[in-house]
Order: sequence, then C-alpha cells, then structure tokens
Amino acid sequence: MYPNIFNKLFLLLPLAYRPPTNDDDRLPNADWNFVENGADWEGTCATGLRQAPIKLSVDSSLIAPLPRILFENYDEKLNSPLTLINKGYTVKMAIPATRNGRKPFITGGLLKGKYVADGVHFHWGSPESRGAEHLIERTRHDVEMHIVHRNLRYKDMAEAIHHADGIAVLGIMFKIVKNPARVYPGLKKIFTALPNIVEYHGETELLGPLTLGQLLGDLNTHHFYTYKGSLTTPGCNEAVIWTVFARPLPIPLSDIHNLWQLQDSNGNPIRNNYRELQPRNNRHVFYRANKDVNDFYLG
Ligand SMILES: [Zn+2]
Repeated sequence: MYPNIFNKLFLLLPLAYRPPTNDDDRLPNADWNFVENGADWEGTCATGLRQAPIKLSVDSSLIAPLPRILFENYDEKLNSPLTLINKGYTVKMAIPATRNGRKPFITGGLLKGKYVADGVHFHWGSPESRGAEHLIERTRHDVEMHIVHRNLRYKDMAEAIHHADGIAVLGIMFKIVKNPARVYPGLKKIFTALPNIVEYHGETELLGPLTLGQLLGDLNTHHFYTYKGSLTTPGCNEAVIWTVFARPLPIPLSDIHNLWQLQDSNGNPIRNNYRELQPRNNRHVFYRANKDVNDFYLG
C-alpha cells in the first residue's frame, strides 16, 4: 500500500512544479498594475526629484522663445509590418524605419540633438473617468498618446533610460467628441484594429500606408509645455524630456470605447492606466506659445 501512494505522489510532483517564465513581457504585470494609479508601485519605481507626470499650466510656466519641434521623416510612409500589441497594461506599436530606409526623428524644443522615434502607446480612463497622465490647466483629458523617442547618442532604449537626456516623449491629448468634424486616418487605423487584440498578448498588423505624422492629425504643434521628468511606468527612470502639446485632438467615442475593451493578463479590462501626479519639486516648466501674442491669448 505505501509504495503505491508514494508512486502516485511522485507522479504528481512534476505537475505541482512550475518553472520560472523567461517571458520578459510578463514581468511588469506580475510586479505592478494600475489599480491604484501607481500608488502600489513602491519598490519598482525609481524615486527622485524629476518624476512624471505633473500638473501643467501657463501661469506656472516660464514663457520661453523655444524653437518649435521639427518632425523629420514624419511624412514618410513607414515600413511594414506595423504591429499593434496588447501589452496587458497598454497597447503599443513599435515604429519601424520608413520605406526609404530612414527613421522618423525630432529636434527642437528643449532637445539637444536628434531623437529617433521608437514606439507609440496610450493611457486612458474608463466610461466613468478620464485617463490622461498630465493635467493641463487643471483638466485631465480623456486619453494621452505617447510617442517615445531615443537620443541618437545612445545605441538602444536599454542604454538611453540610464541617461538624463536619453529619451524624449511627445504627449498628445485626445478629447472625446460626439461627431468630430474630421477623421484622422492614421489614428483611425489604430483604433479600429483594437478589437483584434482584446486579449493580453494579442497582436495585429495594421494595413499601410501609414506615416508617423498621420498620428498627429491636425495637431497644433506650436503650443507645448516642456520639462525634465521620468518614465511613468516602472522603473520610472529619470531619463525623459517631456514635450506635451497643449491642445487636444477630437476623437469619436467609438474609437476610445475600443481602448476600454482591452484586457489585461487576468482577463480584466485595462482601465485608468495612468500614473498619479508627482511633485514638481521646483522644476522649471517651459511653455512655448506662438510668436503672435494675439494667437497666444486666444488660446
Ligand atoms: Zn506613456
């Protein structure tokens, strides 16, 4: 009798033992989530005096004659595949080279040198709450898109996140409107593909052509806030020069609705995936307005 039981236990042992996973994408989800907007991130997020996001307002900014942001190769068609991935905490697309072998990059603002586009992802709320990361004039917009760029001085993102000037992120706000006067074809491509990747690790290919500039729609890029901050997801490295455009783009509810349907690794909807506001700690925030003073005051 004993040998028999022992035999059964022995056979069950391999089932009880689960080897550690090597899948890097799973690690963030195992360690942190957005349930408390980052309040439960202690230990996984770097701490320091230049964390992001923060509140932005013209009154608390230095109005500076900064150069405008220049978008190089943003009007060139991107190579395929254009793969949209459900990461469990956001939806992300890596930005490939253009069809003529170049990389979109930006210069200007507070940036010294060239920053090459690496990826785009989104932060959103829920049907009951807005989910942008930065507050602009006390307003939290519905959605915030981040286009992440790497300083060309550094060979990859892994290296760039360890340098104070390693990364430049463009923040673009979206505002839900009932019947937008215009449709932005690039953004439409992304939002209408989301139902294909509702589940965690879902991947779908966007049908080209797509330029990175199409993701900016008709955004007014002359007005922006800029400051030195951090990543807003672990490890929150203080490596980011933020450029946040002041005006939101109007997006139909049906597009934003598709973001709310995306699921995390537990099958729960990804909602409110923004980090809580961080202390400004006497940092300078610069605001760039048009040279035309009237245009500035008209907002
Ligand atoms: Zn982000």
